[in-house]
Amino acid sequence: MKLLDGKVALITGASRGIGKGIAATFVRHGATVAFSYRSSDDKAKALEEELAAQGGTVKGFRSDAAKFDEAQQLVDAVVNEFGTIDILVNNAGITRDNLLMRMSEEQWDEIMEVNLKSCFNLTKAVMRTMLKARSGSIINMSSVVGVKGNAGQSNYAASKAGIIGFSKSVAAELGSRNIRCNAIAPGFIETEMTDALDDKVVQEWREAIPLKRGGSTEDVANLALFLGSDMSAYITGQVINVDGGMLM
Ligand code: NAP
Repeated sequence: MKLLDGKVALITGASRGIGKGIAATFVRHGATVAFSYRSSDDKAKALEEELAAQGGTVKGFRSDAAKFDEAQQLVDAVVNEFGTIDILVNNAGITRDNLLMRMSEEQWDEIMEVNLKSCFNLTKAVMRTMLKARSGSIINMSSVVGVKGNAGQSNYAASKAGIIGFSKSVAAELGSRNIRCNAIAPGFIETEMTDALDDKVVQEWREAIPLKRGGSTEDVANLALFLGSDMSAYITGQVINVDGGMLM
């Protein structure tokens, strides 16, 4: 028996990076996986094929998580295809870094819509299905930056702190219906995106972390697996860091 046998998961923003890692881990542990992405059709197709080759039932949906109506259409399409949604992972997120002095209104608004409003959109959309089932696990991707703040990321930090307040409120509202909601706060996770950074800079970041390495997408996916599974049946309203001890 695998940890997610019989469960259907919807993961936003899984064409690459952490979302892709969560999709692969969920499939390995028996879940049926629906995932969304904004524009990377080729990467989404490749991921579908890769995970299907491992025996998984996986389907990618092009859907902008920042758009309220698209979120409802996505959930309807997933429920239509797979019957229900047991786990929602609000993972889609972007950065538009700038010092506050130079930050434009567009940079602020875009971050709020993609990172924070998307959590509202998808959680609202999936609620009816989870309420009917009297069960569900919602996992929202925050960041250590949402806990600690970071110069040059006031928009991103505000969106990730907002996710924490949202997650705790959802946990309080829906706990009586056996719907849990938790937030994951990753630290420095090495993805395709960080491969492009200067080696020396990355090495300095690694040295500053107690475990002396950046995290992998699998490190984050393993926590999502735990929170999505019944192993965490009595855990809700929590923010759990996956950061090698960066924030203590
Ligand atoms: P990433 O590699 O840039 O991947 C982002 C994913 O989100 C892509 O699949 C992208 O789809 C999708 N996406 C972006 N905007 C979207 C939208 N409006 N609607 C639907 N999908 C959208 O990012 P990552 O590093 O894996 O980060 C994943 C999450 O973890 C984010 O919420 C991020 O803030 C958080 N996080 C990351 C780190 C880190 O060190 N990497 C640390 C803390 C927190 P397309 O390919 O189609 O654009």
